[in-house]
Amino acid sequence: MVQSEAHTTLPTDYGTFQAYAFPEGDLCHMCLVYGELDVTQPVLVRFHSKCTTGDVFSSQRCDCRAQLVEAIRIIQEAGSGIIVYLDQEGRGIGLLAKLQAYELQEKHGLDTVDANLALGHPIDARTYDLAIEMLRSLDVSKVTLLTNNPRKLASLERAGFEVSRREVFTGASPFNAGYLATKRERLDHQLPMLLEMASVGADERVIDAI
Ligand SMILES: [Zn+2]
Repeated sequence: MVQSEAHTTLPTDYGTFQAYAFPEGDLCHMCLVYGELDVTQPVLVRFHSKCTTGDVFSSQRCDCRAQLVEAIRIIQEAGSGIIVYLDQEGRGIGLLAKLQAYELQEKHGLDTVDANLALGHPIDARTYDLAIEMLRSLDVSKVTLLTNNPRKLASLERAGFEVSRREVFTGASPFNAGYLATKRERLDHQLPMLLEMASVGADERVIDAI
């Protein structure tokens, strides 16, 4: 069974979390627990894959940071929940490959799916097996998953979790509207059509809302 190898208090601009570290080779995943969990009830959980360009630099090419900040806002509003921060950059292909895919998109007009394929990478290399084990190590078996991605939901269902979904709607910017449309049309993400219509920067709106 997976067990955390470090546990520490992590005060942040978004509140104080309990951080649990789960190494995997050179990688290190984290569970960031907010508030007092009641594991007899469904726990609000976000599986968030690391996105250096988005999470750290607020890149407008994707909606990662907006989704992360919105998930934290929902968890704070509810009083407790977990951000499972997975050390798998660029849907699992790594930072270099992600930037190369951006380059291809920029120069040749490929979308995020075709750019990954052109580079010889899978469309989505992410797995959630370890994330599920991390939740188990915190005694979590009932989850309300904060996601628009049905693959994440299905992986928890297959693992025998009692699971429901709550959408994380963050709006779109002129820079990520095409990316979001690809996620909806080619990766089965459950996103409303009107995302592409929005012109306000998603991050600004979400941060304002906190
Ligand atoms: Zn991103």
